[in-house]
Amino acid sequence: MKILKHFWGLGLLFVATIAIAKSKEIINLNFKGKNPKINRYKWSSQQAKSYAHKQKEAISTLLGVKKAENWENLRLRTERPDCFDPAWYKERPMPKNLKERIYSVLNYPKVKECLQIESIDTKYDKKGKIKKVIARTTHCGTIEFRASYLKNFGSALINENIHLILLDIDKIKKIGASKYEIEALIGHELAHILFDDLFNTYLLLSRHDQIINKYIDTKTKQKFSKCFEDYFDNYIAGCEVRADIVGTFGNLKWIRGLIKFCKKIENHFIFDNPPKAPTPVQRIIYMEKVYKQIKKEKTQS
Ligand SMILES: [Zn+2]
Repeated sequence: MKILKHFWGLGLLFVATIAIAKSKEIINLNFKGKNPKINRYKWSSQQAKSYAHKQKEAISTLLGVKKAENWENLRLRTERPDCFDPAWYKERPMPKNLKERIYSVLNYPKVKECLQIESIDTKYDKKGKIKKVIARTTHCGTIEFRASYLKNFGSALINENIHLILLDIDKIKKIGASKYEIEALIGHELAHILFDDLFNTYLLLSRHDQIINKYIDTKTKQKFSKCFEDYFDNYIAGCEVRADIVGTFGNLKWIRGLIKFCKKIENHFIFDNPPKAPTPVQRIIYMEKVYKQIKKEKTQS
């Protein structure tokens, strides 16, 4: 249960980890192997998706969920967790400009298409202040956006079967995030929802706990957990890379925004207990690669 608790405390973050200057790439973005018929954004997303998928397959096998259909069964059997704790959530009105950023992202054609957005609404409190923005989608159900105080900039959570995106406006303001940086942050969290990363992560962790309870001797337990943690770290890294790349939806301004954002958090924020997500340095390296390549393609056409 320890890992599980640790995980809920963090949510699925737009994480700033301590910047250890590691240049190691998580996925290979060598465009030489690209099919010429596919555009560079699509190709990068495919690479990121397949990496995350491979990591999930590996960890599932370790946990004894061998086939994709077994995974689907597990998903169907398991209730969606409530990982929204009102105790640490401090509700606050949403500033108008943040609402505008959310609308701008939700109305972007590629976002609309991926999530299959049916409607977007704003809810107000009695004083006429913005309480939340609600997007109803065919692909991911209901997504609520709220302003809150957080340990990080943004979090994607699940509350009573509803996807929740919480954004900390103080932190966002503090680093002086631009319009496109905020939109990139929203896009990143939306990508986590698109792939149901939070629920899938929950399944892996609860499956781990189930197995652990079957082992009696402590030594085996420890060995297994260590192995699990390594797999789990790779999986989280995969989810983050995928959210970074897919979450820009091929929009050059958001890719640029994400790079700038990572450069800012690299110097400003160090969180305790960071999960093994890619460091800002790693994120900058591959997003710059994606940016350059997509830009090249856009100027060519
Ligand atoms: Zn994330």
